[in-house]
Amino acid sequence: MSHFFTLYLPFQAAKEFVLSILDILTYPNRVLLNPTRSIENIDGDLQEQIKNMAETMYEAPGVGLAATQVGFDGSLIVFDPEADKKNGIYRVLINPKIIDSHGEVLSEDEGCLSVPGYRSNVKRARNVLVEGLDRDGNPVSIEADGFLAILLQHEIDHLQGKLFIDRISSLKRNLYKRRVAKQMK
Ligand code: ZN
Repeated sequence: MSHFFTLYLPFQAAKEFVLSILDILTYPNRVLLNPTRSIENIDGDLQEQIKNMAETMYEAPGVGLAATQVGFDGSLIVFDPEADKKNGIYRVLINPKIIDSHGEVLSEDEGCLSVPGYRSNVKRARNVLVEGLDRDGNPVSIEADGFLAILLQHEIDHLQGKLFIDRISSLKRNLYKRRVAKQMK
């Protein structure tokens, strides 16, 4: 479904050395509005999808990527809040859910790979408790605050078909929508 190109590294024919950069869907693509389904099978295909999403996130570059953004309908996110350090240590959450949240924080100049060329302040919960599965299917829970809390809320929103522009004032949102409509003419 999603179109991608594959980059083969020379002299390394093994499958694990194949990098696939996926296309990132952008607003107003309606696929971004679809909620994802819960993932039941954590198999080889899913591991491939995880790796491709991580590669795509780093290539973009971004600090997080949700399955929805690459047209995959399973509930899956990859993230690396320290992506700028380029150590390649990313985390995976399968079927993540926000179990608890409290406080409020202003996420300044939030942006999104699916909403290119636009940033805005967004009100977010200051602390979140997120539960899900890691890439091997083991249950994990993450208590986060600050940047990680914002990142997780942003990515989990994607899995429910929600973009950060759905969380700003309708006035600002309409200005942005008009700008995009103009660009598409
Ligand atoms: Zn995003």
